[in-house]
Amino acid sequence: MNLKKKIALSLFRLHKRNQAQLHELSYLFWECTLRCNLHCLHCGSDCTQEAAPDMPLADFLNVLDGIAPHVNCHKTMIVLTGGEPLMRKDLAQCGQEFHRREFPWGMVTNGYALTPTRFAELLRAGLGSITVSFDGPTADAHDWLRGKNGSWERAKDAIAMVASTKGLVYDVVTCVNKRTINELASIKELLISLGVTHWRLFSIFPKGRAADNPLLKLAPHEFVQLFEFIKQTRQEGHIKASYGCEGYLGDYEMEVRDTPFFCQAGIHIGSVLVDGSISACPSLRADYIQGNIYQDDFWTVWNSRYQNMRDRSWTKTGKCARCKSYKYCEGNGLHLRDQQTGSLLCCHLDMIS
Ligand code: SF4
Ligand code: SF4
Repeated sequence: MNLKKKIALSLFRLHKRNQAQLHELSYLFWECTLRCNLHCLHCGSDCTQEAAPDMPLADFLNVLDGIAPHVNCHKTMIVLTGGEPLMRKDLAQCGQEFHRREFPWGMVTNGYALTPTRFAELLRAGLGSITVSFDGPTADAHDWLRGKNGSWERAKDAIAMVASTKGLVYDVVTCVNKRTINELASIKELLISLGVTHWRLFSIFPKGRAADNPLLKLAPHEFVQLFEFIKQTRQEGHIKASYGCEGYLGDYEMEVRDTPFFCQAGIHIGSVLVDGSISACPSLRADYIQGNIYQDDFWTVWNSRYQNMRDRSWTKTGKCARCKSYKYCEGNGLHLRDQQTGSLLCCHLDMIS
C-alpha cells in the first residue's frame, strides 16, 4: 500500500473514533413490514409471504416525535425497509407524516410493485431517495435470485422511471453471485442505457437463506474480479459504481468506494424492527438488539446503549487479534460476525490477498 493511502486511512481512523464518540443518528431504518411479494434466495430478513403483522404507523411516529427535539430532522434520514415496503397500503401516508415532521425519507425496494401511479403518489408524499434491486442483464439470473418470474421486467421498468426523475436521490443495487460475476459488463451497459448514474454492488453474506447456497457465495478470485470490475468502471466514469459498505479491502480501499471502510451500525445508523426491537443496521438481527420501542424510549437507548458497536475492541480476538490491518478494519462489518459467539464469519482482506 502506498504512503498516501496509509496516511488517508490513518486520518480516517481518527475520524471514525471521533464519530463513534459523537454517535449522531443520521439514518433511522424502519422495518415497516415483513411481508414481501418476492422470495429472494439470499434474503437476510425474516420476511415471509404470510401476513406477518406490520408495525402500525402511529407506533413509529411516536419514535420520531421522541427523537425530533434532539436531532436536526433535516439531517436524519428515515429509510423504509422490509420485507418489501410497497406491500404497505399506507406507504404514502407514512411518507406524508415523515414529510410533515420535516424528516427526509426514502426506501429500499425490489421495484416489483412500483407502478407509475404508486411512484407518483410517493413522490407527492415527499419520497426523496430510493434504492432498487437489479440482479441480472436478462430475466434468467434476476428472476432466479428473486424467486419470481417477471420480477426482472418490473424492476427494469421501475429503474427507468426512477432514473428519469429529476431531484430524486437513488441507486441501483446488485447482489453479485456466481451466476452474475461474469455478466457485470452486460448489467452495466443495460443500466447505462436506462440512464442510471449510481450503482452499488454487493456480495452476499452467508446468513439467512443464503447460508446454504453455494451459488450465492463468491470465491476469492471472484472477489478480486468484482473489485477490479468496480475499479475499472469508476475509471471509465460512465456510471458511478461502488462496493457495499462491508469489508476492509486493503489496496482496494478508496478504489471501489468513495471513502474507506466504516461500519456505521450503531454509530450513525439505528433501526426499528417490525416487532419494535431497537437495533442498528437492518443487516443485523437478534444479535444486536438494544431495546424495544414498546418498553423503552428510543432516544434514551440510542444514547445509553450500543456500547458493543461504538467500542469494537471486543472483536480483537482470533484471527483479528493477529491482524496488522486491525486498526483500519476493527473486525469487519458487524453483520459478518457470528450472532451467537461474535466470532468472525468472513474476512475480505483474506479473500483478496
Ligand atoms: S482479520 Fe479481522 S481485522 Fe483483519 S482484515 Fe480480516 S476481518 Fe479485518
Ligand atoms: S453491519 Fe454490515 S451492512 Fe450494516 S453498516 Fe456495518 S458493514 Fe454495513
